[in-house]
Amino acid sequence: MATHTINGVTLTLLQGNIVTVAADAIVNAANAALAGGGGVDGAIHHAAGPTLIEECRKIGGCPTGKAVATSAGKLPARYIFHAVGPIYQSRPEDARLLKSAYQSCLELAEHYQIQSIAFPSLSTGAYGYPVNLAAPLALTTILDHLQTPTSLQRILLVLFDQRTYTTYQQALEKLLPAR
Ligand code: ADP
Repeated sequence: MATHTINGVTLTLLQGNIVTVAADAIVNAANAALAGGGGVDGAIHHAAGPTLIEECRKIGGCPTGKAVATSAGKLPARYIFHAVGPIYQSRPEDARLLKSAYQSCLELAEHYQIQSIAFPSLSTGAYGYPVNLAAPLALTTILDHLQTPTSLQRILLVLFDQRTYTTYQQALEKLLPAR
């Protein structure tokens, strides 16, 4: 685990399973149909219980690069923010869409005036975004957000495997001294 304080907000990187983390909002790496799936999406739906898929069905979908909020079912959270990252295709817009998926979650956090949010590494599993490219993008987007007033006091990045965790940690160490 690594914790840094940026403009009074704690940013923590930890290796683990996001469904065990308590936070006001848990971010899901969803698909555009909000249909549930494998990876972190499957783990979140399994842990939250069947009310979640019902809520997702009512919403109907979410465009790539955006996020929508639902309640959190049995998870230790108030909300789940379902963020749809891009499927990596080496296109110029991949980075813009990934950044925008994180930004949409941060906008929802401000909308609901929540104090804590936990993110997984969006798009770097089944969606194939290289972690070494996604990590600095995710972190820069979060650090930029912390340059403006925020309701957030605690941001967690919950990285499932050791390699992803290490990549994020190294990317953060590179980014922080420059700020
Ligand atoms: P995507 O389709 O956006 O790529 P995935 O769920 O396939 O989403 O993968 C995104 C990241 O989430 C990957 O690094 C994967 O290892 C990780 N992951 C899978 N399960 C969990 C979990 N329970 N908690 C946190 N991260 C997870």
